[in-house]
Amino acid sequence: MMIVMKPTATEEEIEAVIDRIEAVGARAHPSRGEEVTVIGAIGDREHVARLELEATPGVAQVVPILKPYKLASGQLRGGQATVVDVDGRKIGGEHFSLIAGPCTVESRDQMLSTARAVRDAGASLLRGGAYKPRTSPYAFQGLGQEGLRLLAEAKAETGLPIVTELMDARDLQPVLEVADVVQVGARNMQNYSLLAEIGRSGRPALIKRGLSSTLEELLMAAEYVLKEGNENVLLCERGIRTFETAYRYTLDLTAVPVLKELSHLPVIVDPSHAAGRRDLVTPLSLAAAAAGADGIIVEVHPHPEEAICDGPQALYADRFAEYVELVERAAGVAGKVLSAAA
Ligand code: PEP
Ligand code: MN
Repeated sequence: MMIVMKPTATEEEIEAVIDRIEAVGARAHPSRGEEVTVIGAIGDREHVARLELEATPGVAQVVPILKPYKLASGQLRGGQATVVDVDGRKIGGEHFSLIAGPCTVESRDQMLSTARAVRDAGASLLRGGAYKPRTSPYAFQGLGQEGLRLLAEAKAETGLPIVTELMDARDLQPVLEVADVVQVGARNMQNYSLLAEIGRSGRPALIKRGLSSTLEELLMAAEYVLKEGNENVLLCERGIRTFETAYRYTLDLTAVPVLKELSHLPVIVDPSHAAGRRDLVTPLSLAAAAAGADGIIVEVHPHPEEAICDGPQALYADRFAEYVELVERAAGVAGKVLSAAA
């Protein structure tokens, strides 16, 4: 249920409604807008209905949230977009964020040189995987803890916040020591216990859409994080499986405006994993930015031909500035400005 307070509601009236919701074992999620405060009451619907909150001072109306995802639903925020703040870098609203870096942390030199290049070109956050979900168990699985250490070093030197994947809840603590945003990979999108752990950690999460997941399933994954009281969730479209075989995955750009209609959460696009080919990354990025995405997560490598993982789709670090300039213009078409450093 969604409790819409009157514009004239006082702080005491808002608190009283929250207390009553919590007294029946439901959870109250207030969002304080410029005009009105809306309180999402998540729990047993019957219990909340019995409170007859319509008759409570300061309440304008009580409306059901019709979608199966409640906290992720756009309805909850009355059309107001969520802006996630990562160490001063804003993601969402009119802010466009570029998250760039290698697929995998391979070595100190590779990580630090990529970090410097993407920072100089204007990236807002740095990506890099220490734990890698590989299709083959015989492929390189990532540097693990050593990879996390190198990410920490790259962050210390460049000041860029880190986006890195958590594959297994057993690695939560070490990952939280360096990750400013915890990435949930496409293959883990429906790992509900992992999502709930990240939710409880409170750390911003970037959830990648599963290879064959619907938008509703993606939003339900986000709901698992939000339900734990973590409001900082980024949705990521990274290409889905279709009958087309000419390229790796089909980047579903229709998902961008549709997710933004269904949800208040920022939408990030990953053109690298969708395309699987470097030459497609720029056109897909421009299309994503012009379609209104809130950001792009893109793979960059100093020597893609030597990359251990995903080299064919990595942009050249020394040409990344040209790419940023083009994407910045496309984001401008959608009314967004490249998010600057803090
Ligand atoms: C990645 O971002 O490195 C990655 C493995 O992506 P995905 O989970 O979308 O395949
Ligand atoms: Mn990759």
